[in-house]
Amino acid sequence: MECQNYNLTRQVERENLNLNPLQRAGFLSPAAREALLEFGDGYSVCDYCAGRLDQVAKPGIDGFLEDLAKFINVDVVRTVHGAREGKYAVINKMCEPGDTIVVDGNAHYTSHLAAERAGVNIIEVPNSGDDRAEITIEQYQKTLEEAIDDVGEIKLALLTHVDGEYGNLTDAKALGKMCKKLGVISLLNSAYGMGRLPVDANGWDIDFVVGSGHKSMAASGPIGILGMKGEWEDEMLKRSPRHEKKEIELLGCTSRGAPIATLMASLPYVIERVNNWDEEVKLTREFVSKLEEIDGIQQIGVRPTEHDLVRFNTPTLHKIGLKHQRKGFYLYEELKNRNIVGIKKGQTEWFKCSTFGMSQEQRLYIAESFKEIVEKYL
Ligand SMILES: *Cc1c(COP(=O)(O)O)cnc(C)c1O
Repeated sequence: MECQNYNLTRQVERENLNLNPLQRAGFLSPAAREALLEFGDGYSVCDYCAGRLDQVAKPGIDGFLEDLAKFINVDVVRTVHGAREGKYAVINKMCEPGDTIVVDGNAHYTSHLAAERAGVNIIEVPNSGDDRAEITIEQYQKTLEEAIDDVGEIKLALLTHVDGEYGNLTDAKALGKMCKKLGVISLLNSAYGMGRLPVDANGWDIDFVVGSGHKSMAASGPIGILGMKGEWEDEMLKRSPRHEKKEIELLGCTSRGAPIATLMASLPYVIERVNNWDEEVKLTREFVSKLEEIDGIQQIGVRPTEHDLVRFNTPTLHKIGLKHQRKGFYLYEELKNRNIVGIKKGQTEWFKCSTFGMSQEQRLYIAESFKEIVEKYL
């Protein structure tokens, strides 16, 4: 048979400034782009494997995992296929079906699905309910203590380190310490954190932490990070009685080619950029201030922002769309004409975006473009 044309090209995303938060920190480093070619073949990291992926010495997965563990300060680390697979593995292993876990109200949908797949119930910590949509540790503790009273035992508490709707950064250290006191296992979902900002899991007393290679660590993915305290290693990474080298919850081996090779190639670059996090936040805040110079554009979530993902309410942009002959599509088209992409087509009432890694000039250009567009139609 003859296959259809799958249209495997991506000029638009490469040749424009992309504001989609999902994609900003998954851009490959130059070294990762080389590794992608070198390790594109299936099972390409398995040439010298003796049965344990984490112990492969060529390419140096063993050394890489040591470095990665240091980078996020955990005792033990493994790669999985994504943050979601990491969360699922932890919940599935640490809980029984019918157990109840506590999850913050800004959790990603994959946290809910991981819990559902593992057959556990969820009690949710409400956010502040206003434009800040903040998850406070006071509220978390209140909900968790009430849950323990009501249910009897809560095995695990999940905290979204940085949520994908508002870019709010939560207090992972306070959660870790609180969970330790209450005898609850803590699981930090750092899909939007690890690889962008410093993670200090042991310093924060966090039991398990997950990250996302394709979201925040300049890797092609799909690949995730699962880090843990040493005390959980035996249980979490229990081996098969039949296949004594193979870790059951990971189904033996996880990433076996380009996804892990690109993650490895990018680690030095990622370590470097995390050192620059304060500067990144500063540039994002400047970008927010510039955009807010436009009447009717306002950042919501915690202010000033502590992350590159920012969400804006944009009644002004909406008002323009009501009268524009292209309706809500005008914004996408005007931005596209200026080589800016990543805001959803047709959406004008609000948007979220990220300028992570862009130069100050590029950020300024984007803010100026929004001003131009508003002035053109108002
Ligand atoms: C993107 C995202 C995920 C999913 O990450 P994967 O690595 O694709 O599974 C999970 N949680 C949050 C908060 C996210 O933003």
